[in-house]
Amino acid sequence: MNDFQYKKNQLYGEKVSLSEIAEAVGTPFYLYSAAALRRHITAYKKAFSSVPHLIAYAMKANANLSVLHLLGKEGAGADIVSVGELYRVLKAGISPEKIVFAGVGKTKDEMRQALRAGILLFNVESEQELIALDEAAKSCGKKASVALRVNPDVDPKTHPYISTGLKKSKFGVAHVHALSLYKLAGRLSHINVAGVHSHIGSQLTQVKPFVDAIRKMGELIQFLRKDGLDIRYWNIGGGLGVQYDQESPPLPSDLAKNILPILKASGCTIIMEPGRSIVANAGILVTRVIYTKATETKKFVVVDAGMNDLIRPSLYEAYHQILPVVKKKRPDHVVDVVGPICESGDFLAQDRTMPEVMPDELLAVMSAGAYGFTMASNYNARPRVPELMVDGDRYAIIRERETHKDLVRGEKIPAFL
Ligand SMILES: *Cc1c(COP(=O)(O)O)cnc(C)c1O
Repeated sequence: MNDFQYKKNQLYGEKVSLSEIAEAVGTPFYLYSAAALRRHITAYKKAFSSVPHLIAYAMKANANLSVLHLLGKEGAGADIVSVGELYRVLKAGISPEKIVFAGVGKTKDEMRQALRAGILLFNVESEQELIALDEAAKSCGKKASVALRVNPDVDPKTHPYISTGLKKSKFGVAHVHALSLYKLAGRLSHINVAGVHSHIGSQLTQVKPFVDAIRKMGELIQFLRKDGLDIRYWNIGGGLGVQYDQESPPLPSDLAKNILPILKASGCTIIMEPGRSIVANAGILVTRVIYTKATETKKFVVVDAGMNDLIRPSLYEAYHQILPVVKKKRPDHVVDVVGPICESGDFLAQDRTMPEVMPDELLAVMSAGAYGFTMASNYNARPRVPELMVDGDRYAIIRERETHKDLVRGEKIPAFL
């Protein structure tokens, strides 16, 4: 998190003081560091430079056009999960031959749009989807290149909501069924079997589950090739964790060290789909204290950002470090940092020990660049907050704060009311 640091007790985003930005644009706001984004993508490029590879950034983590544009300039492609994301990523200037399309519920209409755009690969998650894709491809005179998402049944040892590679998961096809489904794929006239895919979960803090999954997938590739299938792409998924609190997740280089020998031996082009590890620690959410209040048993800090702006604490009990934007010598208190939303689940931190804060002071919610703005909603008729990017001593609004007009756009009161 070295792109957000104190200088003389003032917290900065690269070379710009956060107080200065808050003065100019109001609060709350998201701020992303261009230097951090570049550094994170570069770490992947370096780690995997010895194999042909594509970094298909999982844009569901942060889909802002400027973020995509920056990563695209660094050579990244994208992992999309909807045609809405396809629209965004093409608009950001990333070319279709660097796009892979994942998700358990792609409709034929979505498939046709992606085929017409000319994306690289579909990650197919079921037999019905495979057949639908064959039909969709036929109907628009294309051939769809496919990797089946295989469920290697390894426990990623992360939060159950973000575990995706277990037998009980809705994602992918079971390892034992993979072979027969691949055979079917090989027989379909508008399907081109091109690769294998797995993604076992998110916020992984150990290398072992990755290695176990890679071993299993490597064996599968050998089986498939014996069966005459031309496997050229090996998509190893995303999921590398980041430091939110005390965890010390592996770096891309640690991961690469452990799996490169197996990947190289396959001769495949390696696709990876990192999301969180690219953007989480490249972004923060800056919020202002509205009130402080104490009940008989608890102390609360009420801030102007709520669960609609950053839902991770409410949804996953996720931890985000919270720092004062201006450091003062104050005693520590144990507080809940809560938002203005009418829900008890609306908190950014619970039972947090932090220096006492006063109304009007600014707080920075750290590591908020991933699954922050992309999960934001308008609950309680709250306009979504602006997103900004800092690059050295420059910064810009990369998405405007929504207005009240934006909130009712598209709504109509019918004449019969
Ligand atoms: C969400 C997702 C990713 C990205 O996961 P991160 O933990 O953000 O790296 C990659 N691939 C697939 C298929 C996903 O669903």
